[in-house]
Amino acid sequence: MPPRSAPEADILDARVLEDVVAGALRVTREQALRLYHEMPIQELGRWANARCRVLHGDTIRTYVIDRNINYTNVCTAKCTFCAFRRDGHEDDAYTLEPEVLLEKVRELVDIGGTQILMQGGMNPALPLDWYLDLLGQIKERFPRVHVHAFSPPEFIEFIRFFDPPGASLAEQLRWVMTRLQDAGLDSIPGGGGEIFAAPVRRKIGLGKCDAEAWLTTMRVAHELGMNTSATMMFGHIEGVADRIHHMDLVRRWQDDAIADLAASGGGRYMAFISWPFQRENTPLGRAREWGEGPDDDLLAPFPGDVVARLDGTGERSAHAEFGRRVRMVGASGYLRTQALSRLYLDNIYSIGASWVTMGPNIGQVALHYGANDMGSVMMEENVVSAAGTTYCLSEPLICRLVRDAGYLPAQRDNTYRLLRVHAGPGAPDTRIDDWSSVRAKKLHVEGQDAPAVEMTVGQTDL
Ligand code: SF4
Repeated sequence: MPPRSAPEADILDARVLEDVVAGALRVTREQALRLYHEMPIQELGRWANARCRVLHGDTIRTYVIDRNINYTNVCTAKCTFCAFRRDGHEDDAYTLEPEVLLEKVRELVDIGGTQILMQGGMNPALPLDWYLDLLGQIKERFPRVHVHAFSPPEFIEFIRFFDPPGASLAEQLRWVMTRLQDAGLDSIPGGGGEIFAAPVRRKIGLGKCDAEAWLTTMRVAHELGMNTSATMMFGHIEGVADRIHHMDLVRRWQDDAIADLAASGGGRYMAFISWPFQRENTPLGRAREWGEGPDDDLLAPFPGDVVARLDGTGERSAHAEFGRRVRMVGASGYLRTQALSRLYLDNIYSIGASWVTMGPNIGQVALHYGANDMGSVMMEENVVSAAGTTYCLSEPLICRLVRDAGYLPAQRDNTYRLLRVHAGPGAPDTRIDDWSSVRAKKLHVEGQDAPAVEMTVGQTDL
């Protein structure tokens, strides 16, 4: 049973928040909005950190070693925040040959990696057998590598491309997903979540599935016993209420998954990761920031906040500038949103620090704002780095970063089982005295090609 909600409770009262931290009281949408707007950021972080410590203890914070493989950049969708996609005719449009992809998995295994995050554009040229053969080859050669692959928008396009039998979307999804699962798919990443509210989603995710289809895909995965993650990309045209509505949908569908499926071995959302929109090289990034226009009245509310409703029923007609202006999020907006997600998502196990876009300093602070996991020591990243500056660190550096934040770093697997706790003298970071003296290597600088990267730490769940 989820904890009870108490809409009448004053959420800024410490005694009420102590109940939230203990898991005895659930934050309502209205209370979440108050927390976001009215609580000083350090206090919000302190409560989120307290909740994190209840769930994950005081000692260990984790990371995973995986490789982010983007098997194709050809995509039928035209998300306005995306700098990665290609139509297919361009010189740099690609689909990886299976041998190339398998070599990437081998390189991962060689450095002690345990999982691949495999996602791509939605490429109509690839038949179902291409995916089945690929998964079969991966599992045949690397049976212990966890395959975390194909986000909900890809699944929805699979339905269109493969036209599977079934009287409903859920049945069609089950048909495709069962075959991929039998071939080697282990779990599903939460890519393509963005913002669920329809007015926002229709503006920024052209050709991408709606919230109902996204959540239905994950529900089918849970019914098939697979775990998934949920994501949110914010800091663009949305209002703060849209972020809370997004978290609320995740929480409600998770309640149902636990109530309906947990006893029979069903899956659930294991993690929630949110990150701010990166604007460089994207169509959406060309939108003016709120406040930059000659007629902007900065004392007036941001258009996204005028449109947004906590129940997702916002009407874009509520503000003429909605969708034309962005409100980019900096460190405080990011930490505030992440802290709120830890308090609101009382039924989600892990909150990931998404510092690949914010830099390691903020990532380290995020461990005191509700995050328990630093994401991935990964060997490549293509999607976020195509849209702006992203950072990378080696495993020793991320271990040092976690340790300097006051925790023991530990490598985990996809199910959050601890593989190595770095407490002793053989830890990867023993020779680093001050990680902050090491300049974080940038994966991408606007206007330049991304340099080759040996090993990076960053976002695992696009
Ligand atoms: S974000 Fe993904 S689905 Fe959207 S255009 Fe880019 S590759 Fe395609």
